Amino acid sequence: GNGVLSEYGTTIFSIMSRLAVEHGAINLGQGFPEGLEPPDVIAAAARAVEAGPHQYPPSLGIPALRQAVAAHEKRFYGLEVDPEGEVMVTSGATEALAACLLGLIEPGDEVVLIEPLYDSYLPMVRRAGGIPRLVRLEAPDWALPRQALAEAFSDKTKLLLLNNPTNPCAKVYSAEELDFIAALLEAHDAYAVCDEVYEHLVFDGLPHIPLITRPGMRRRCLKIGSAGKIFSITNWKVGFITAAPLLLGAVARAHQFLTFTTPIGLQAGVAYGLGKEDGYYQGLVADMQARRDRLAGGLDQLGLTPLVCPGTYFLTADISARANGMEDDDFCRHLTTQAGVAAVPVSPFYAARPPRHLARFCFAKTDAALDGALNRLADHF
Ligand code: PMP
Ligand code: GLN
Repeated sequence: GNGVLSEYGTTIFSIMSRLAVEHGAINLGQGFPEGLEPPDVIAAAARAVEAGPHQYPPSLGIPALRQAVAAHEKRFYGLEVDPEGEVMVTSGATEALAACLLGLIEPGDEVVLIEPLYDSYLPMVRRAGGIPRLVRLEAPDWALPRQALAEAFSDKTKLLLLNNPTNPCAKVYSAEELDFIAALLEAHDAYAVCDEVYEHLVFDGLPHIPLITRPGMRRRCLKIGSAGKIFSITNWKVGFITAAPLLLGAVARAHQFLTFTTPIGLQAGVAYGLGKEDGYYQGLVADMQARRDRLAGGLDQLGLTPLVCPGTYFLTADISARANGMEDDDFCRHLTTQAGVAAVPVSPFYAARPPRHLARFCFAKTDAALDGALNRLADHF
């Protein structure tokens, strides 16, 4: 050995949150919500923890949650899902992603990825033995580069990893873009791992369209959801996968050796939560959209130009006018330590040659935090 125990880096989220704590900064960096946790969902989990049982639940998840996930897919997307053979519960979407990649990729398989990309994708694809084929969305409108995407597919393509809505750039894919992707998957006999953790955070009346609902895609897609995002409880780490039995089976075999299972009380709380009335989901969107508008308006006035944000709880801003020549990571460090406001640079969401003029702000925060951050920035500039 060469003494190097791991080539993994430290995630930018931990780095910026730590810096925020050290400097007493208002943390608009790491994506976690404040002040939105539904008390009834928490109470349902608390009751279930108390009631037990306190030993391993089934590896695929408790029946109540698998049924609730199936009912959720039917209610919001019209998908018929068999809770027995087509749903698996995971310890967060992070584990779902790892299980999909470790379960499906054979060494040498090509994996199509779209930059900017969520930070766990590339390390996990590589460690699974996949060969990344990167395609890039360009600011400020993040349109799908159809020709480049088509060229990234080959006869070695095993799967596409698609994040919709997209962290960090907030892109929401249109039906036309999804159908273009679907045709490529068909033509190359490939699969799609669909990270849709922000499925209930799509704004301005736009629909969220899961790729799995497009023609022919039922047998090619694995759809990943996260209770952390749907109920603003990122601590819980409960995720779920919906996929055809063949795909789910492959992923379930990887899951056995990753976590095997997920705490029963939290699963029960999420099962209860997924059944909440439509008003809950509509309220979440309305609330987050108001927070988006609050932050976007304020940043715009300060010369940190917000890019379009139809989904997620992240706003990407063009920092060029305010950065004094600093690159995004230096600028975010500077804001955190000097202005007392933490944001996340966008360059770590690229494998190489990133743009350097973008910073990501999380708006899933209280009005007091958002206004406080805007006031601090105004004082600083
Ligand atoms: N995918 C994306 C795009 C995310 O932004 C996140 C985390 N915020 C995750 C996956 C991980 O979700 P979880 O906390 O459920 O593991
Ligand atoms: N997904 C969250 C973000 O994008 C962070 C999750 C984490 O810290 N690993 O900020």
